[in-house]
This record gives sequence, C-alpha cells and structure tokens, in this order.
Amino acid sequence: MAIQYFPEKGEKPQDFDEVRCRELIIRGAGRSDITTRLVDVRSWEVAAMTARQFRRGRAFLVGDAAHVMPPTGAFGGNSGIHDAHNLAWKLAMVTRGHAGPSLLDSYDMERRPVIEATLAQALARLQKWFDDPSKRLPPPVAIVEDYDVVFGQRYAAGVVAQEATRDDHPFQKSTELSGRHGTRLPHFAVGRAGQRISSLDLCDRDPLLLCADDAWCQAADAVSQRLRIPLTCHALGANGGLIDLDHRWPSALGVESGGAALVRPDGFVAWRSTHGVADPVQMLIEILDGLGFRTQACEHHQ
Ligand SMILES: Cc1cc2nc3c(=O)[nH]c(=O)nc-3n(C[C@H](O)[C@H](O)[C@H](O)COP(=O)(O)OP(=O)(O)OC[C@H]3O[C@@H](n4cnc5c(N)ncnc54)[C@H](O)[C@@H]3O)c2cc1C
Repeated sequence: MAIQYFPEKGEKPQDFDEVRCRELIIRGAGRSDITTRLVDVRSWEVAAMTARQFRRGRAFLVGDAAHVMPPTGAFGGNSGIHDAHNLAWKLAMVTRGHAGPSLLDSYDMERRPVIEATLAQALARLQKWFDDPSKRLPPPVAIVEDYDVVFGQRYAAGVVAQEATRDDHPFQKSTELSGRHGTRLPHFAVGRAGQRISSLDLCDRDPLLLCADDAWCQAADAVSQRLRIPLTCHALGANGGLIDLDHRWPSALGVESGGAALVRPDGFVAWRSTHGVADPVQMLIEILDGLGFRTQACEHHQ
C-alpha cells in the first residue's frame, strides 16, 4: 500500500506502526475479515530533479543518478533502462574505435529532452492523482498514454539523420511506430531458421541495415570492410534467410520495396531511404559519416 502523509501537519514515518497500518489496509480494502502482516514501512520524498549534465569527461550519469521523478506513471526505472540502452552501444562503438568520442555527446543530447518530457508526464499524473498542499508544482502538461511515454519516445537530434517533419512531439503513438528517424523500430514478425521472432530481436551489438534488395547488403558489406565499421545487413524476403511473415516490410518502416532502414543497436531507427538508390555504397558512407561513425578517420588512416 502506498499512501501520502503530511509532515506539515506533524505526521511522521514512525506514526505508521502495525496498528495504524492495519487500520489503513482495512480501510483501503473495504473489509475487516483479512489477515495482515506488516513486513516493512518506508517513507520517501517525492522529487523531480534532473542533473545539469549527464556526462562529464569519462563519467556518465544514468538512471536515478541522472534524474529522479515521482513514481506516478512508473517511468523512473524505465527511463534508467532506456538511458543505459542508449549509452551502452555508443560506449562499445567508441572503445572499439568505430566512432570518435563525440558520439558520446549524443547521450545527453538525446536523453535530456526525453527525460524532461517524461518528468513532466510524471508530474502531471502526480497532480491529477494526489493533493498538492505545497502548490509549488508547475501547470500540468497534457497527459500522454503510459505506453507512448515509454515506447513511443523519439530522439529529434543525436545519432539520427534529420528528417523534415512538422511534428516535434517527443512521444509518438507506440502502436503506430512507422520508421521515422529517431523512433523505435516497429515490431513485425520475422521467420528465422523455422522460428517466428520479432523484428526487434534482429537488433544486436552492431548497427543493422534492413532491406529487401540484396544490393543494399552487398553495399553494406563493402562499406563495412572499407571503413572497418561493423554493419549487419538483413534482406527480408518471401523465401530464403529472413522471411517477412506478415508482409509488413517495407510498409512498417514507411519505405518502398527498394528502400532500406539503418537501425541502431538500441533499436532506434537512425536513418531510412524510402527507395532504392543508384549508388548505395556512397549513400551509406555519407550517412554513417553524418551520424558520427569514424569513416573519415578510417579513410584517412588508409
Ligand atoms: C515507490 C516507488 C515506486 C516506483 N515504481 C516504479 C515503477 O513501477 N516502474 C518504474 O520504472 N520505476 C519505478 N520507480 C522508480 C525506480 O525504482 C527507480 O527509478 C530505479 O530503481 C532507479 O534505478 P537506479 O539503478 O538508477 O538506482 P537505484 O535503484 O537507486 O540503485 C542504485 C544502487 O546504488 C547503490 N549505491 C549507492 N551509493 C553507493 C556507493 N557509494 N557504493 C556502492 N553502491 C552504492 C544503492 O544502494 C542502490 O542499490 C519507483 C520508485 C519508487 C520510490
């Protein structure tokens, strides 16, 4: 049971002894014929805070160290997991020499706007569900559905190619993800070695290129070798390696059959080409370079 108590009215955590807790449980349950056993009582202060920097040099803040938010909405732990997911693959790319250290600046750039918007969602729920005796809270924002806050978040800038759009909302409908740059890869069913898996299961430690046309995979191989950047490519088809079981490719990603989508290891779409291109090698080099992978340095090295 979670309840609000009021220190300004003289209430203290110690007031919540076994007898008081039993009374509260009975009142909450609306019946007295129940057995109660007090295991633990804890107090905590609801807070809303964001660190001024999520990175300084080699130190990164993730989870509650970077931000605390009221538990209304259940976003705190989720946000911490998203932070770690966002940062881990970037650290791996940089420490393996596949990207320069500036790739790590994108951690704060991508997470901060999403965290601020998520925190505003938690505060809006707090004001809707609980009393605010302090009257110090900011005016609540319009409430967005829980799943959209957690699964519909969009990175507008960072390791994502720019895409002309007038919709700057930080949260998309999680049930209508469409392959926009900076949004999570939509789920669709994929057949692999006789098993039905999710498109999300294709995301692994390296950036992933999804397409249907083998020309993209040949280009991805060439670029990967030339620039020494790991790049996995999967061609989805009706037969062969990966099967597009529900015929959702390419529409799920908003591209034509000759198009392709570059997905980051954390499952966010970094870039998509809505159609086939004349020189996919050159296109991939330009895109990877623009995203901060260490193509120029490697070429220079060669
Ligand atoms: C009542 C309540 C309900 C919540 N419900 C939800 C929910 O439903 N969904 C959700 O997503 N989130 C929820 N949250 C938020 C979630 O619990 C936190 O956001 C999450 O636990 C933060 O994880 P963390 O790993 O960043 O930090 P923590 O879980 O705080 O972990 C930090 C760890 O570091 C340890 N530590 C600290 N200092 C040191 C040190 N010097 N040396 C070594 N170890 C140290 C601590 O002991 C702790 O184990 C809730 C929070 C509260 C208070």
